Amino acid sequence: MDNWDKSKRSLEMSRMPYKGTKPEIILRKALFAKGFRYRINFNKLIGKPDIVLPKYHIVIFVNGCFWHQHENCKYAYKPKTNLNFWKSKFEKNKERDDRVSRQLISQKWRVIVVWECQISMNSIAKLVEELEALIRK
Ligand SMILES: [Zn+2]
Repeated sequence: MDNWDKSKRSLEMSRMPYKGTKPEIILRKALFAKGFRYRINFNKLIGKPDIVLPKYHIVIFVNGCFWHQHENCKYAYKPKTNLNFWKSKFEKNKERDDRVSRQLISQKWRVIVVWECQISMNSIAKLVEELEALIRK
């Protein structure tokens, strides 16, 4: 268990190019600055979306590229040890993501997934512009 935690922790720390501010917080601040009002920790909803925009009936998930295995993303590498463990972990995450998003859609929510690698201080303006277009559609 200890080993596991250690390897998990170092993966967690090494997976993204920036340190400090969490990507979902960068995104929240940028959305707020654009005038969007959101809820966080909206526990009534399945899957606990990172950002909920009740007015637009939109939920946004900020997915970690590693844990949710972002396709063709350099941060979504496969660990070289404990292969079976990771494989089943990734499969479970994916199944869960699919199930959660189907349920939310059936409850008339629009589901937007943002990947952590899309969020950085440098790219946030462009990302928020794209999100704004989606949200106001
Ligand atoms: Zn990614």
